[in-house]
Amino acid sequence: MEIAAAFKRRGLLFVLSSPSGAGKSTIARMLMNADPGVDMSVSATTRPRREGEIDGVHYHFVTDSEFDRMQESNAFLEWAHVFGFRYGTLRNEVLKVIEAGRDVLLDIDWQGTQQLKQVDPDIVRVFILPPSMEELERRLRSRGTDPEEVIQRRMNRAAAEISHWAEYDYVLINNDADKCCELVHNILKAERLKATRRVFLHDFVRELTG
Ligand code: 5GP
Repeated sequence: MEIAAAFKRRGLLFVLSSPSGAGKSTIARMLMNADPGVDMSVSATTRPRREGEIDGVHYHFVTDSEFDRMQESNAFLEWAHVFGFRYGTLRNEVLKVIEAGRDVLLDIDWQGTQQLKQVDPDIVRVFILPPSMEELERRLRSRGTDPEEVIQRRMNRAAAEISHWAEYDYVLINNDADKCCELVHNILKAERLKATRRVFLHDFVRELTG
């Protein structure tokens, strides 16, 4: 058996969570550009499309009844209510990628992360914190996409989301997107090398040692 074959592995589920405005989407995008071995999971949502968002790229935008049907047909690995809308990770998309030995990046909230941990205890969970609540508010306002009441709701929700940071495997503070992305990439690279993920290594060693 070739060493390369012995090092084959199943792809991993790599979860990034943070309150909105902490820079998670930017970091996810930078990571996708930096690493060809990772695919982003595109969730389904009942939230209306924001300006600049593309259906099938940022989300699969679906109606309430479409989401109901997907739930009934067990299409989701996890799903949750966030800001009054439903969001869910599509089971088939994720399985296709990890079975091909590629990794999946999931931008989901703490509720979804808890559910996913039940489905696959082997997931890697990374939480990104903003440098401060003041900076978070400034970033939310600078996007200029949401009305004041939505910003206040997001700030309240951010505090709730942050309260779950200790349930994650890694926690980072996003002072600088480049540095934060580099750290996230380092985590991904180290997790890939974990001995427990080397599914065929046992056979290989048995062959070596007779
Ligand atoms: P936004 O509407 O700003 O794109 O996302 C709002 C929140 O929903 C973010 O915290 C994001 O991580 C979370 N989210 C996006 N997709 C999913 C999903 O499929 N499942 C869960 N549980 N949360 C999601």
